[in-house]
Amino acid sequence: SSSAQRRPTGGANAPGANSGSYDKPWRQNMAGKGNAGNAGGGKNAGAAAGGAGANKKQYIGPDQELATMLERDIIDQGINIKWDDIAGLEEAKRVLNEALVLPMIMPDFFTGIRRPVKGVLLFGPPGTGKTMLAKAAATETSCTFFNVSSATLASKYRGESERMVRVLFDMAREMAPSMIFIDEVDSLCSQRGTANEHEASRRVKTELLVQIDGVHGGGGDKDKDSASADGEPPAPRHVFVLAATNFPWDIDEALRRRLEKRVYIPLPGQAQRLQLLKINLKDVDVAPGVNLESVAAQLEGYSGDDITNICRDAAMNGMRRLVAGKTPAEIKALREAGKDSFKEPVTSEDFQQAIRKINPSVSKEDIKRHEEWLGVFGST
Ligand code: ADP
Repeated sequence: SSSAQRRPTGGANAPGANSGSYDKPWRQNMAGKGNAGNAGGGKNAGAAAGGAGANKKQYIGPDQELATMLERDIIDQGINIKWDDIAGLEEAKRVLNEALVLPMIMPDFFTGIRRPVKGVLLFGPPGTGKTMLAKAAATETSCTFFNVSSATLASKYRGESERMVRVLFDMAREMAPSMIFIDEVDSLCSQRGTANEHEASRRVKTELLVQIDGVHGGGGDKDKDSASADGEPPAPRHVFVLAATNFPWDIDEALRRRLEKRVYIPLPGQAQRLQLLKINLKDVDVAPGVNLESVAAQLEGYSGDDITNICRDAAMNGMRRLVAGKTPAEIKALREAGKDSFKEPVTSEDFQQAIRKINPSVSKEDIKRHEEWLGVFGST
């Protein structure tokens, strides 16, 4: 559900990557790339450079490789998702704005009793927009976005996960302001103490907890390690942790407590489904007779992802009708006769066909379980 757009930054052969000292190759790359060309690029590069002389931590050997791998797989550059691209979820947008966006804009306000939360958990059934929310919050703040899927960690960094977590947070501080988005956090941090829990996975969890404890949510706290050589006060290093899960009940209690805001991302209601239809169909024609409100009503129980799939399928049906029974040569001729000939408006029957084919992906039992968990542990 969280197919991350990972953009390789070519870090493997970065200058300094093999120089023996830990030369933070990602910083050179980021500066060179202009970090997605937004305002945050300059800011991030500046922030990282500001910490350069100050933070003299040196890593050797394998961690350096790990940092390069992380840079390649986990830093998500050039995301550009706006709040308005996301249908509904107003409450979640408000919480993220207050917990993440505003503290980055005015860190001096969010101190003392107003200190920002260290972490936010988004929970709910799959395909409801949790990843999109994380990306929109990162876009909004132009911060460096670390997109960590626990599944990737498990498969790619097996046996290295503990060190990986440490390097990840080090990099995030270096490249602050940063957001670390941990998708499927349940698989990285399930309940403690089960009989078959491996020693290694217990260590990963402990490391994650330690690192989250060390995060300066974004308030006025200064990074104590980074007294700069020229006497300038060190810049605060804003690192936020945002986690997502489809199985909140599996999350370790110690982690749950650290994710102070726990926001339910439910299936879309009628108004949100209508919005989803409009967002998805914004660049195709819809036939005049189609009543999108009644299509939205019919889609009760479908997730945002399901609705996107239905729109995609419905939007293909016109083309399918046109090519049915034709040879490739005939299709080519038809296409050459007029490029617009394939832009058939989407009809009611196109929607009905798509709805017949695609079933809701979330079960009622799943929703019930989420709502129960919300009642006990939810917190906005
Ligand atoms: P999750 O992380 O909750 O599993 P995603 O954020 O990855 O879900 O959403 C998957 C896809 O479903 C998105 O790429 C988008 O096409 C669609 N989608 C889901 N929820 C929404 C929403 N609220 N607004 C717009 N699109 C959505």
